[in-house]
Amino acid sequence: MLDVQPPKEPVDIAVVGGGPIGSFVALNLAKLNRKVLVFEEHKTIGAPAHCAGHLSILGLRNLGLYPLPSSIIENTFSQANFYSPSGFCFSIKLAKPVTCSVNREAFDKYIASMAETAVARYYLNAHVHSLMIDGGIVKGVNVTCDNAHQQFPAKIVIDAEGISCRLLRQTGLPGLASKSLVHGVEAEVENFKNQALDAVEVFLGKAYAPGFYAWLIPRRDGTAKVGLAAKKGNPQLFLQKLMQKHPVASRKLRNARIQRITFHPISLSGPVSKAYADGFLAVGDAASQVKPTTGGGVIFGLTCAGIAAEVADKALRIGDVSSTFLRLYQKRFNEALGFDFRVMLQMRRFIDSLSDEDLDALLRFYTRIGLDKALANIEEVDFQGKLLLGILNKPAMFASMAYLLKLYLSANP
Ligand SMILES: Cc1cc2nc3c(=O)[nH]c(=O)nc-3n(C[C@H](O)[C@H](O)[C@H](O)COP(=O)(O)OP(=O)(O)OC[C@H]3O[C@@H](n4cnc5c(N)ncnc54)[C@H](O)[C@@H]3O)c2cc1C
Repeated sequence: MLDVQPPKEPVDIAVVGGGPIGSFVALNLAKLNRKVLVFEEHKTIGAPAHCAGHLSILGLRNLGLYPLPSSIIENTFSQANFYSPSGFCFSIKLAKPVTCSVNREAFDKYIASMAETAVARYYLNAHVHSLMIDGGIVKGVNVTCDNAHQQFPAKIVIDAEGISCRLLRQTGLPGLASKSLVHGVEAEVENFKNQALDAVEVFLGKAYAPGFYAWLIPRRDGTAKVGLAAKKGNPQLFLQKLMQKHPVASRKLRNARIQRITFHPISLSGPVSKAYADGFLAVGDAASQVKPTTGGGVIFGLTCAGIAAEVADKALRIGDVSSTFLRLYQKRFNEALGFDFRVMLQMRRFIDSLSDEDLDALLRFYTRIGLDKALANIEEVDFQGKLLLGILNKPAMFASMAYLLKLYLSANP
């Protein structure tokens, strides 16, 4: 419930959205002794979850979040199988588990509970319907809860509302371009067959997931998460097609029962060009801090949340919440992630330009030259630009770059 009396003094920070990114920014700020309020429109943190929760272990570790409590981790993975639409498999076996899948509801609740322990205050069932803006400066949030409206003045508002970007647009900043969105579907299934428990499966190709890919992520309890995203067409129909018709996926999933299904878009454009305004910062999906290759937004969003917290704290310390100072946030996250975003955007464009036959030829070529061996010891899977630089000296990478160039030139004459 909201307070009956509106707060008299502005709090330091109002965070909109109690997703993982909003809660992580709140956690970091609360640890810096900032007075933080978090507004979440749902009655419970983490529900309904719309995400596969496939995260890199190194990424979590670097953020101080790994190991996670075992109740949150559904599985860990040391193998990835990439399938062409014809069913050809290029498989990478890694020396040790590099990724894990988490129960997203439990993961979100875990970060929120740490933020609450650090004395961030949560308001649930509290929908921020607009920003308080005075003279172009964001001064707080207007909140509705149980038909009651209340204003919460804040020195800085941090927008972690996810992909809708409604509040971002209220500041006059451009939202996300609809052409860079893909439409995701995520299903939890039981009764699927023949799955190596330590392998994630990735199904490539326009026939099943145009503009993205499909995935199968097994859980240790014998159920699995299956999903895909598509740039055009109905994602649910593509999922049915994958489960019934794909030469490999259908063998595993033809008799699977869907227990739960959700739909949600993913932005693949890379970060918005301006994620700050006077008294305002945007983080996570709200700022499109999502990997254009895989659609993974958790690790990069959390990384940017850490930077947002540091910059907001500094702004409050020096008493300057103007966009001129808050620009530092964009500068710092571009320094940390900009190169990787640029490389991943090129990779996404390149993959999108390939036909299903090209993809098939590419995976066969990778297998022939033994690219899997060159990748067997990787741990880094988030910072894909730096990953690429780090392995360019391997002979298999030279060959694969030459092949990619050939494909690129034939796809983009
Ligand atoms: C199908 C699918 C699969 C995915 N799989 C992965 C994956 O395997 N790995 C990965 O890293 N990423 C994945 N992602 C992306 C990942 O889900 C997002 O990047 C991540 O959830 C972003 O977190 P966030 O906190 O920014 O936004 P969200 O998780 O969307 O949280 C935003 C929160 O804000 C609340 N909110 C919104 N508006 C308001 C308002 N006005 N007032 C109050 N509260 C509000 C919402 O209720 C929500 O709780 C996937 C996405 C999709 C669609």
